[in-house]
Amino acid sequence: DYMLWKNEIVERKPENAMVSFEDRGYQFGDGVYEVIRIYDGKLHVLDWHLDRLFYSMEQLAIRAPFSRSEIKQLLKQLIEKNKFTIDGKIYLQVTRGIQPRDHVYMEDLDALFYATVDRFDQPVEMWDKGVKVMLQEDIRWLRCDIKSLNLLGNVIARTKAQRSGYHEPLFHREGIVRECGASNFYMIKDGVIHTHPTNHYILGGITRKKVLLFAKELEIPVKEREIKVEELQDADECFLTATPLEVVPIIQIDKNPVNNNEIGDITKRLQQYYRKRIYDYLE
Ligand code: PLP
Repeated sequence: DYMLWKNEIVERKPENAMVSFEDRGYQFGDGVYEVIRIYDGKLHVLDWHLDRLFYSMEQLAIRAPFSRSEIKQLLKQLIEKNKFTIDGKIYLQVTRGIQPRDHVYMEDLDALFYATVDRFDQPVEMWDKGVKVMLQEDIRWLRCDIKSLNLLGNVIARTKAQRSGYHEPLFHREGIVRECGASNFYMIKDGVIHTHPTNHYILGGITRKKVLLFAKELEIPVKEREIKVEELQDADECFLTATPLEVVPIIQIDKNPVNNNEIGDITKRLQQYYRKRIYDYLE
């Protein structure tokens, strides 16, 4: 197996990718990341992921260690070198660089970059049976629009949810439903899809963007608005989306069943349409 380490392809071994104790990613979580899906060895919606990656770096004033065309080429070389022709995902991260520990960052640091590719099997059981989510107070910071390595809020909440028998936390803040621990959230009511607007309270999911586009193609109305926690009890259907998982039905919120613990019709239509359209977005 091979990985990308500082813009080079190396064998995927710990000793080939050692990081300094003064790397700011290690000390402060000072960095950003992306997860990109691979289908049949091809990258899915690569440009959208790169848009978000460059946005995240820009927001944190991290100096990109590659241009857009360089990173594209590197990721494709990584897949090729691994002879990777199945379904999988790429994880890539960029940390700001190395300096003596200080909250205040220096301007001229060389950012550190690595990427790995791994097999990822289709989560068929989640698609067919749906998942449960657990309402939790959103204790994350207020720039959830940046895909930052600082994930302690998510780490704590997802661990608590999974130890309690739920797949995801469902975050709320100020009485408003925001998103899940590693996915975006949607509620369907009277044939309309409701989901949180993209702003600093949530991550603008690539899968979210895609699903909203597909909803339009299927002529299913969408309202991007703040959903109150109390509204959940009247939901007809709920689902979540994330790059690895695509469209996953939510069949229970806390102890309360959604749609009698079954997958709703609109969720199923979106799920199937999403699968069908995957092959139009590969490179
Ligand atoms: N929200 C959070 C907090 C996430 O970590 C993720 C990442 O998977 C998402 C939403 C979904 O984003 P995407 O569809 O780009 O994977």
